[in-house]
Amino acid sequence: MIRINENYGKLASSYLFSTIAKKVREFTEKNPGSDIIRLGIGDVTLPLSPSCIRAFHGAVDEMAEEKSFRGYGPEQGYDFLREAAAEHDFRSRGAAVEGDEIFISDGSKCDTGNFQELFAPDIRIAVPDPVYPVYVDSNVMAGRTGAFREGRYEGLVYLDSTRENGFVPAPPKEKVDLVYLCFPNNPTGAVARREQLAEWVAYARENRALILFDAAYEAYIRDPEIPHSIYEIPGAREVAVEFRSFSKTAGFTGTRCAYTVVPKCCHVYDASGKAVPLHDLWNRRHTTKFNGVSYPVQRAAAAVYTPEGRKEIRGLVDYYLENARIIRERLAAAGYTCTGGDNSPYIWVRTGTDSWKFFDRLLTEARVVTTPGSGFGRCGEGYIRISAFNDRSRVSQAMDRIAALS
Ligand code: PLP
Repeated sequence: MIRINENYGKLASSYLFSTIAKKVREFTEKNPGSDIIRLGIGDVTLPLSPSCIRAFHGAVDEMAEEKSFRGYGPEQGYDFLREAAAEHDFRSRGAAVEGDEIFISDGSKCDTGNFQELFAPDIRIAVPDPVYPVYVDSNVMAGRTGAFREGRYEGLVYLDSTRENGFVPAPPKEKVDLVYLCFPNNPTGAVARREQLAEWVAYARENRALILFDAAYEAYIRDPEIPHSIYEIPGAREVAVEFRSFSKTAGFTGTRCAYTVVPKCCHVYDASGKAVPLHDLWNRRHTTKFNGVSYPVQRAAAAVYTPEGRKEIRGLVDYYLENARIIRERLAAAGYTCTGGDNSPYIWVRTGTDSWKFFDRLLTEARVVTTPGSGFGRCGEGYIRISAFNDRSRVSQAMDRIAALS
């Protein structure tokens, strides 16, 4: 008899965005022709930049000729992309990362979801609350939690991210082995200052813990005091993995390209306490279960690092940041308290009422789709997340509609 992984039965509900999609579908079925503005899921709307498109086309043409055709590439990614990422994303900021410490993949969702496979079933895990759901659900599926009770899984250590701590939790008093951090944060839009990240690095070093640092929104940081990478913090290379994505940086949500940095000096431990290089473990996992990102996609991603490419993608990100500014200012003028949206494409809005109720009100009365904060965790109750990824005129229209409600 083929039996199921019973851990799947513990999952609290269907994936947050599927639930939202279902609600929107039901609303449009009942109200055909409704003009819905989507500021829910964080998906980009602007096309790939000209440099990326040129490189993409050029690489497709190479695939059409026998002499330049390429079959399987290196699973870890082509050197031209790994080297460019190491140089421009890290070394140019004074963070020491080598090209061969970078693993190119088809997305940070997969990387952040898969990484937990390397660790023992009984490690202690800390996750922020609210949180990008993939970190939690992938550990539930792997059997590292108990049941879901009162909005939380037993066995996880939750790091409350609240107004009181500026949505940046400090390390816990207790010992944990694995910590997920995400800055700029999805969903709150909060960013971590250098000294806050330094506290986490010190905690990880002291406890022989590992930090999984998700920097998918790094390109939105505009405050020069805010670190873009955890490796800007001295001592982080030994205790942290960093996830990066071209999705929100360069509009690759549909094209798919990301990478994970695993420094060679980062160690984890076997049952006897012996240090094991994490790079070797991830390399083994990645080369066994993944066969590389397509050559044209990697060429398109590498174009992001050319002088023109850098200018163009800065323009893309600036466009969404201007949307974010409009959302923040219009909502503040309408009397809402907001955070985020200055170094992040997400605005975290206090609703003063139940998240799903407020979501429903915005959907049915303003025909604007947002994301209920409670879908990201218990501390998200009383908030909604608004995404700046949409056309400027649609963003303004959505703000007119929400302002008219209040
Ligand atoms: N990490 C965070 C915090 C995200 O919000 C997202 C996507 O929304 C991802 C990772 C996934 O990115 P990718 O498109 O590279 O899979």
